[in-house]
Amino acid sequence: MEWIDSHCHLDGYLRQGKLEAVLDRAAKANVTQMIAIGTELDDWTINHDLSLQYSQRISYTVGLHPCHVTESWDQQVNALEAYFDRKHKPVALGEIGLDYFHLPKNPEDAEGIKRFQQSAFERQLAIAKRLGCPVVIHSRDAYDDTIETIDASGVDWNKIVVHCFSYSSEQIKVINKRGGRASFTGIVTYKNAPKVQKAVIEQGSDVLMIETDSPYLSPEPHRGKTNEPAYVAEIGKKCALLLDEPPMELSQKLAENTRKFFSLSVPHE
Ligand SMILES: [Zn+2]
Repeated sequence: MEWIDSHCHLDGYLRQGKLEAVLDRAAKANVTQMIAIGTELDDWTINHDLSLQYSQRISYTVGLHPCHVTESWDQQVNALEAYFDRKHKPVALGEIGLDYFHLPKNPEDAEGIKRFQQSAFERQLAIAKRLGCPVVIHSRDAYDDTIETIDASGVDWNKIVVHCFSYSSEQIKVINKRGGRASFTGIVTYKNAPKVQKAVIEQGSDVLMIETDSPYLSPEPHRGKTNEPAYVAEIGKKCALLLDEPPMELSQKLAENTRKFFSLSVPHE
């Protein structure tokens, strides 16, 4: 049984000197591959270098996360496209999108940040369209605007994954109908998350991908601890339960879905 963690953040472990141990535990948990997701200029370089160093196991993406969008967002976005000209390329653009949950308290400041997020999202989608690459979407409390913006961008929905899906089964239908997909985190293992569990069932396993989004959102039974890629198996097992599929078969399907979506090659020893 093998697992792929399709969305994690490894730069923090590296800074804390914990990365080797984290990768060892991932290998022991049969996590064969992971995708280190970019959020801002600082982690793009780290992720690039990590995926060069561990080329069999780690792939990377670059993108400006909506929670890192400030007035000067365009300086970072301007530096983004060059990564796709490098020899060692990102496998996707992301995570990008809209986050209305973490906005400033002051309404005027919040409106300003929303406008910057919108512009940064549009510009990055335009880059993704030009490159024809997969796109990792972050969307929190911003469903309608997210869908509208992607529609307007002309990006092929088949290239879209809405990560850490937190919306309803009705809302996942809309995404799936357009050709897009959602990936799921440890939230699916929580007792108080029937809405997200229903969304897993609604989408089914044909395009499903799973992710830890570590170091955040530890799945049960590790809740309360720092999350890490090794725990992705708990998410896969929970999805197998929800979908009533044997974990062994589902793990294979998830690995295939993820390799296909991000054009990853199978690692060789
Ligand atoms: Zn993330």
